Amino acid sequence: MTAAPLTVLISGGGIGGLAAALALRQRGIRVRVFERATDLRDGGAGLHIWTNGTIALQRLGVLDEVLETAPVQHITHFGTWRGDLFGAWPVGGFIEKYGCPTIAVERSVLHRVLSAAVAAYADDAEIRTGAAVVGFEQDSDGVTAELSDGERVRGDILIGADGIHGAVRTGLLGAEPPRFTGYIAWRGKAELRHEKIPPGTFYALFGPGTRFTFYDVAPGVVHWMSVANGAPGGHDSGDVRAMLRERHHGWMPPIDDILAATPPEAIIRGDVLDRAPDRRWGTGRVTLLGDAAHPITFNIGQGACQALEDALVLAEELATTDPRNALRRYEKQRRARTAGLQRIAHRIGVLGALEHPLLIRLRELGMRAVWPQLVFRIAERDQIAYATRWRTPANPLPDKSFQTDGA
Ligand SMILES: Cc1cc2nc3c(=O)[nH]c(=O)nc-3n(C[C@H](O)[C@H](O)[C@H](O)COP(=O)(O)OP(=O)(O)OC[C@H]3O[C@@H](n4cnc5c(N)ncnc54)[C@H](O)[C@@H]3O)c2cc1C
Repeated sequence: MTAAPLTVLISGGGIGGLAAALALRQRGIRVRVFERATDLRDGGAGLHIWTNGTIALQRLGVLDEVLETAPVQHITHFGTWRGDLFGAWPVGGFIEKYGCPTIAVERSVLHRVLSAAVAAYADDAEIRTGAAVVGFEQDSDGVTAELSDGERVRGDILIGADGIHGAVRTGLLGAEPPRFTGYIAWRGKAELRHEKIPPGTFYALFGPGTRFTFYDVAPGVVHWMSVANGAPGGHDSGDVRAMLRERHHGWMPPIDDILAATPPEAIIRGDVLDRAPDRRWGTGRVTLLGDAAHPITFNIGQGACQALEDALVLAEELATTDPRNALRRYEKQRRARTAGLQRIAHRIGVLGALEHPLLIRLRELGMRAVWPQLVFRIAERDQIAYATRWRTPANPLPDKSFQTDGA
């Protein structure tokens, strides 16, 4: 007699939850995704998906579709707010080296592509919106998720992919709030073509207690992020775009043009939060994935990439080992992978938040000395190269020739 296929319940329909649903379904596992929001969509801001993330997307079979709008990145610049650039990382070279590009993408695009791929499985992959998981119970035969309307849903496994404040995480590890990093991010999108932003170019510029990042997320569309130190829980009153233009007055062009071209009503503000690595992500039939397990600040652009990797490893383990062992094996591998990334992202955030002129001078000297030679090499080794495990002859390059002109 053949064993009945597993049914996996997933709390959260963000990038991590959807990627997990897709990876599991591709392994013949039934999935039911419960998303608290009434619409299945992720905000309009951008994401940098490094080559380890695109290799995962390729493995999930959705990279070609993402590449229909997402520009391939060719060069990543780091420098000071004055435009004094101290490191240019030719990330376009990853295509030849690893077979997949680093890309920039609108979150909504990635989200749409993943959700459509899950929905294509119709009968064996349900995505239910407006359904928040509020608790769970487990026993030797299965796990029951409790939804906010009182419904109780039964499955074999429960994955908490419900973000940094996730309910499954709270049920497993308690209600300890995330850590506020001391800085706040404002994000937006401008329709702008500018000679200083050739296709596939990323800039991260550091000022005193402030930063500005920008890159193209579609032809003629620039995603940007302004970061500043401040107190948590604040709100903007008045003209937020004028406030940001004032903050970045005198910064390297074309920052002011980018802000001027941004519709103010589309600017998103958010306190930047993370957690120190946890020693435990699950018990019995329940585990965590993505930001619920390992929130990584944007400083290394790896949060979503790691959620994609989680999804593949979880599916590999569940397809080959009995469920509870599979979850512990998944957690062991992924904790080892993500803990260091959580820490390094947090430390880079501390450096980025420096305000004292002397410390900033030291930061600039240090960055100039180590950024291109050391930091890029370590980042490539520790962040990108991991995903080569998923590059096989049976997993050939996508058809796209990554033809975008480099900077
Ligand atoms: C400013 C900023 C910039 C970033 N830039 C990058 C980048 O360039 N590259 C990169 O790789 N990463 C980046 N990240 C990190 C990335 O956004 C996250 O790591 C990624 O979104 C995590 O996905 P997730 O699905 O785990 O969690 P989330 O995106 O938080 O999704 C969780 C989902 O669960 C739902 N949910 C919550 N509670 C419940 C519940 N009780 N029941 C059901 N559903 C629930 C939510 O509505 C949401 O849809 C950035 C993050 C920030 C803040």
